[in-house]
Amino acid sequence: MLNKKSVDDINVKGKKVLVRCDFNVPLQDGKITDENRLVAALPTIKKLIADGGKVILCSHLGKPKGEAKPELSLAPVAKRMSELLGQEVKFAADPEVVGPNAKAAVQAMKDGDVVLLENTRYRAEETKNGEAFSKELASLCDVFVNDAFGTAHRAHCSNVGVTQFVDTAVVGYLMQKEIDFLGNAVDNPKRPFVAILGGAKVSSKISVINNLLDKVDTLIIGGGMSYTFSKAMGGHIGTSLCEDDYLQYALDMMKKAEEKGVKLLLPVDNRIGDDFSNDCNIQVAKRGEIPDGWEGMDIGPETEKIFCEAVKDAKTVVWNGPMGCFEMPNFAHGTEEVAKALADTDATTIIGGGDSAAAVNILGYGDKMTHISTGGGASLEFLEGKELPGVAAANDK
Ligand code: AMP
Repeated sequence: MLNKKSVDDINVKGKKVLVRCDFNVPLQDGKITDENRLVAALPTIKKLIADGGKVILCSHLGKPKGEAKPELSLAPVAKRMSELLGQEVKFAADPEVVGPNAKAAVQAMKDGDVVLLENTRYRAEETKNGEAFSKELASLCDVFVNDAFGTAHRAHCSNVGVTQFVDTAVVGYLMQKEIDFLGNAVDNPKRPFVAILGGAKVSSKISVINNLLDKVDTLIIGGGMSYTFSKAMGGHIGTSLCEDDYLQYALDMMKKAEEKGVKLLLPVDNRIGDDFSNDCNIQVAKRGEIPDGWEGMDIGPETEKIFCEAVKDAKTVVWNGPMGCFEMPNFAHGTEEVAKALADTDATTIIGGGDSAAAVNILGYGDKMTHISTGGGASLEFLEGKELPGVAAANDK
């Protein structure tokens, strides 16, 4: 079990605290179109302000690739965070991120003040975990707090490199919550433990399938990835998504499930379309009986029943990846039924980030889930059983 020091274990009164946040928000014409990540960062920031720290926030935004691109400036975030916090978040406009402006802004801080640095990816060294930029960031602070789960699977200056040059590196509340929910689910789940995997490709979730088969009681596989299993079993899949390089892997995983006594549930029927579009002709076909020229786009009604029944008595459910092309309303049914089943169960329900989180929120079940991870890639790597560099870099208790 991961046991990292958190903001509750330190005293920041009068100290300069550098907080790595995940302010990588979608922007349109300089306006923030989804502020969930800003809201999620508030508890840690408020705690540090209340404790009398000098709070220096930093984050990346998009991929400026080492250039000071004005459209990827964090200035709009400073403005919105000022409103959300009800106090000024001073923006340290500085193309070097830790240049003269940033240093002056930090120098002038009083206890409880908040400063936001410019986009850390304005510096090319950031994503290379370069020593010089890591040292510059560390030079601004006495204490480092990592609250950016979304980048925890990457070793960059602002979440990993910097920790080598500070005495104290702890996790924030958001990060702690992710570690608690995802870590507990995988390492110490209340049983029955059911995992639901979907999404486009088997290849992007090979390690997740393999790792979860060692942990779960039931593994449900839907979405585009299920057709590779169907073909591996000798079925006809028409023009459905398939990765021929993974047919043997699919068979190996089915064998592993049997050996481990894990119930592996695959779709028994599918909603199929004669074109990859919402308005195509739609039919329901049994597994492995998809005609030529037709494509599996969603799980079918029988499958929905079986999948939903399987989560009814679960105590822990982890879900990553939609059951079909949920972006098209005519093929969102399977994903919606699974979301409903999760909303109705008493189990602890944990949604991996990325598309599954988007699906649950778009379909209106977001507030019914126990935990929706803020990190797509990071939550997947957690489920793969990997050590996340951003988490590992924080001090142990
Ligand atoms: P992933 O990023 O691997 O979780 O995949 C998510 C994507 O998988 C979504 O954009 C879905 O539209 C897509 N997807 C799910 N089921 C299918 C399917 N049967 N055929 C094609 N794409 C699918």
